[in-house]
Amino acid sequence: MSTPPSRTQDLAEAAAATAAAPAPAPDWAAIRADFPLLSRQVHGKPLSYLDSANTSQKPRAVIEAMDAHYRQHNANISRAVHTLGMEATEAYESARTRLAAFVNVRPDDLVLTSGTTQAVNLVAYSHALPRLGPGDTILLSRMEHHANIVPWQLVAGRNGARIAVADITPEGELDLDALWRAMTPDVRILGLTHVSNVLGTVNPVAQVCREARRRGIVTVIDGSQALPHRPVDIAGIGCDFYAFTGHKMLGPTGTGALWARREHLDSMPPFLGGGEMIREVRFEGSTFAAPPHKFEAGTPNIAGVVGLGAAVDYLRAIGMDRIEAREQELLAYATNALSALPGLRIVGTAREKAAVISFLVEGAHAHDLATLLDLEGVAVRSGQHCAHPLMEALGAPATCRASLAFYNDFDDIDRLVAALGKARALLG
Ligand code: PMP
Repeated sequence: MSTPPSRTQDLAEAAAATAAAPAPAPDWAAIRADFPLLSRQVHGKPLSYLDSANTSQKPRAVIEAMDAHYRQHNANISRAVHTLGMEATEAYESARTRLAAFVNVRPDDLVLTSGTTQAVNLVAYSHALPRLGPGDTILLSRMEHHANIVPWQLVAGRNGARIAVADITPEGELDLDALWRAMTPDVRILGLTHVSNVLGTVNPVAQVCREARRRGIVTVIDGSQALPHRPVDIAGIGCDFYAFTGHKMLGPTGTGALWARREHLDSMPPFLGGGEMIREVRFEGSTFAAPPHKFEAGTPNIAGVVGLGAAVDYLRAIGMDRIEAREQELLAYATNALSALPGLRIVGTAREKAAVISFLVEGAHAHDLATLLDLEGVAVRSGQHCAHPLMEALGAPATCRASLAFYNDFDDIDRLVAALGKARALLG
């Protein structure tokens, strides 16, 4: 006869069983209901919002955090010693700390910006403008957003550096052999998007950064489309700079950040001058605050940053791995459904993709299609998606793009497919 288990054994087993039990699956319908805007109608139809790559919708928690900030804590940061000033400063810096933890970096190395565009311009003007000159090359991938092209062109126009392009495969993946070949000794900077906003391609940024680092090339990664959709460990990627934008990851517009290696932040001159970023100002010359404040001149978007902090809390509570898995399910379902439509071609079929589907429909202009879809309450983006050089290479004047987020559901995709069927019948 075996001896009965002791109470300690019982407790240990119960604890082990609890630890092993999978966390309950998120209630995606309840999560969708956290986004007030998703329950509105458009043209008398329920809204299927499929334009999250453009900007995400905002959960109640973000809207309420900003509302509470203005109702209860509004004051300028870093100046006032009164209670409100201290509360506002604490809220702003706390959001920075939570954002930094979310992407696994130190808060002191995270400069808060108005978005990716400002972040890339900061690198271009403060890092590249004074360092590069004739004979130096800035290498960019063919799939960059204008925000990771035009700042480099402006700087190259001033310091005489050259822009070179790394090509992509017909499926829309980075052509890695071509990329290694393009990393010639004159290349000083590589600009690369983590996830393409047009093709959905997820680039192997850690591998590319490793190769670039071996060759002494500084890497600037555009994480705008990565952060909202997958766990991102910036420190693990091994880049020099990582830029991202808040409004695509449930935060308010006009928020974002630039992470940089400390040695870059220390050696870069300020980008914009003014209040907040100084240590001492004399007419003979000024000294500057330590990074990240050295790069945050003027009154920032305080309420926006508070909202971005709430967005990070919200995403963390669901879990980025679950968000990624949910979006991959939606992507597979949408890819199957759209591929079955006659005359429709998906542009961008990389092996690793985020939930972005660009497509062309034979005989229909993208803007006409998007207008007809809108009449059915289905919001997609149409056009060139701020990526003219990519669209030219794809030979597509414009595409429609359906981009998904975890708050979408299978019904949204069914409604897209039905609306496309109706639109094609109308367009003949
Ligand atoms: N890079 C990519 C890949 C993007 O999709 C976008 C936004 N469409 C940006 C940069 C620019 O972001 P923001 O306008 O917020 O600065």
